[in-house]
Amino acid sequence: CGIVGYVGSQSALEIVTAGLKRLEYRGYDSAGVAVLADGGLAAAKKAGKLLNLEKELVDRPLPTGTTGIGHTRWATHGGPTDANAHPHLDNAGRVAVVHNGIIENFAALRTELAERGHELASETDTEVVAHLLAEEFSSCADLAEAMRLVCRRLEGAFTLVAVHADEPDVVVGARRNSPLVVGVGEGEAFLASDVAAFIDHTRSAIELGQDQVVELRRDGVTVTGFDGRAADVRPYHVDWDASA
Ligand code: GLU
Repeated sequence: CGIVGYVGSQSALEIVTAGLKRLEYRGYDSAGVAVLADGGLAAAKKAGKLLNLEKELVDRPLPTGTTGIGHTRWATHGGPTDANAHPHLDNAGRVAVVHNGIIENFAALRTELAERGHELASETDTEVVAHLLAEEFSSCADLAEAMRLVCRRLEGAFTLVAVHADEPDVVVGARRNSPLVVGVGEGEAFLASDVAAFIDHTRSAIELGQDQVVELRRDGVTVTGFDGRAADVRPYHVDWDASA
């Protein structure tokens, strides 16, 4: 239901959990985060309120990293359990993805992945994306390209945000029939389903267009269509009052 992504020089976990709090008003049943640190990927996710996730992070702290993603879930496929909470990881635990919306053709993709030896750990429509991203990344070594290739195979409505441990300073987002906004800061960048998540940090925003993929790096953002063509980017200033 809510999505936040961050790359910069601050603690990604702090930025992402604060952003998720700003999105709490939308309602959700589970929450989770993933950060890239020390060459690896670490994730935590819990059914219930953000407070449950915060307790989990106290009991089992994640390493500190400056690239991360977070999610609050409103379950559509699979009940509100820890296993079904996002992020979802591939079997090697190198890629993590969060998702708002519904992947309509997930059943066929699950079958296909199972036939290729992937083990799926949840009942969600989302998890297929993590496995497909891992497969595509293993041949192109470019998360934005992997995302474009995977999105072309998906049907339905989705906002997707992903990180890969082999591209430690990159966050990639994609959207179709579901919102995603980029926040451009100084040496840092944000992604969220709603500007409320990053308004405390930057008011320079880019609305992602239909069927577009964005690659976030500390020094800038690159937007392309699912077809790989460079897209027109229209930054705007967010001037609404965030205290509301
Ligand atoms: N369809 C996904 C799920 O059930 C995403 C739900 C959401 O938008 O939060 O896990």
